[in-house]
Amino acid sequence: MAYMRPAILLFALAMAAAPQKPEEPQPRVVTPGAACGQPPADAIVLFDGKDLSHWVTAGGQPARCTVADGVMTCRTGSGDIYSKETFRSAQIHLEFSPSRMSDQHGQARGNSGVYLQGRYEIQILDSYQNPTYAVGSCGALYGQAAPLVNASRPPGEWQTYDIVFHGPQCDAAGNLVRHGSVTVLHNGVLVQDHVEIKNTLRGCAADHIGEPGPLMLQDHNYKGAPVTLMRFRNIWFRPIPD
Ligand code: MG
Repeated sequence: MAYMRPAILLFALAMAAAPQKPEEPQPRVVTPGAACGQPPADAIVLFDGKDLSHWVTAGGQPARCTVADGVMTCRTGSGDIYSKETFRSAQIHLEFSPSRMSDQHGQARGNSGVYLQGRYEIQILDSYQNPTYAVGSCGALYGQAAPLVNASRPPGEWQTYDIVFHGPQCDAAGNLVRHGSVTVLHNGVLVQDHVEIKNTLRGCAADHIGEPGPLMLQDHNYKGAPVTLMRFRNIWFRPIPD
């Protein structure tokens, strides 16, 4: 062996003695999207800018939003839309842009929502300089948890939600054994930090809350509701272990 300085020699000996574990399981390779926010290789894409083939109305009819220039626009009165694909627990990404509604205030300004499993709403609202009750502002787990901060962009700009959702679990006897939970990044800012979702429904047997459900986008419609144009793009999810 050629002369080696002691430190280098010790390092070389240590490396030679390190156990080799070729059988050790490696993390599954998932090729990420070309840019941040783009769907990774194992994502289930719900809207890629082309059509509404992954979405239906509550009655199972084709969704009545419109698609142009890679953007889905849902107008008040077109109805809630549901993804055909369902999930139990998932990582979810979507982008949204409320239209400017300067003549409206509070809950009437740019209201929609992302319903996890069609049951739990992450509020979409134009919360840029638009105060309302905190558990109803943009990024809220509606009615339960206010967002940690207001990370809203002005209306007309694109905004992102990145959501990690774990669905509630029921046992075979129909008892709720684990509440659901949710973590939300709004425009890259943490607004819900592993928040437990209180179950406000009747229970496992009555509401099938332990079963998979779709993503639902809300049409916040009611008698006298202002016309809201809510734009969406780049919607996908990845099922994750419960
Ligand atoms: Mg809403």
